[in-house]
Amino acid sequence: MTTLPVAERWYETTVVDDTLTMILEPYVDRLEQANMWLVRGRDADLLIDQGMGIVPMKPLIDALAPGRPVIALATHTHVDHVGATHEFAERWVHRIEADDLRVPKGVSTLISAEIDPVLRQCFVDAGYDPLGEYLITALPHAGYDIASYRRIGCEPTRILEEGDIVDLGDRQFEVLLVPGHSPGSIGLFEAETGIFFAGDVIYNGPLVDNVPGADLDVYAATLKRLMQLPVSIVHAGHDPSFGRARLVEICETYLRKWDRA
Ligand SMILES: [Zn+2]
Repeated sequence: MTTLPVAERWYETTVVDDTLTMILEPYVDRLEQANMWLVRGRDADLLIDQGMGIVPMKPLIDALAPGRPVIALATHTHVDHVGATHEFAERWVHRIEADDLRVPKGVSTLISAEIDPVLRQCFVDAGYDPLGEYLITALPHAGYDIASYRRIGCEPTRILEEGDIVDLGDRQFEVLLVPGHSPGSIGLFEAETGIFFAGDVIYNGPLVDNVPGADLDVYAATLKRLMQLPVSIVHAGHDPSFGRARLVEICETYLRKWDRA
């Protein structure tokens, strides 16, 4: 039995502006604590990434966007981004990771000892603290059985490709295939505003550049592409948002580290 405390509320929401809400799971270990972004559109709302799926997410989204059609789009299929995808009627992902959305591979547990030690070492080498006993620091409710957690697969309802437009009626986001962190990672770029939803290809923290599926030549080419993008702000899969100057700085730092400047 565990002695973890019980969380009062599982999801934390932050209103960024009239059209954007950030959602995260504060009791998930930092490594797997993803930012989820709810974007308000005229015809539909867009939910970018769906967290761990430890607690049902759809009721939260229904409360934030009552009566509105919601598109759940996964930037990639790591466990911290697609846990609750199966709850939504619209489930969009890039073609390259569609199979992984259907049949989960990789991490599918909250118990650190059940994660491949080689993978755990990759995270430490990337710059994260070693994981504690569990991937959560509180239980979602009293009596929650940590061992029961599994990632649930689901069938994509739209397969995305580079250059596709995610159209919310009054806002259009272009799908950019930005591989490196994972082979089918995508970002969403809104040309009109320069807003870039990055997923895990870049964020303001230690990039995970060394796990299975990561490829430094591919990753370097992606970062060079991002440096050319006229972004105003990056809303990423982890850590706080940042502007173009910081984007360039992060790219330069990693390109030097990888000897691919
Ligand atoms: Zn992530």
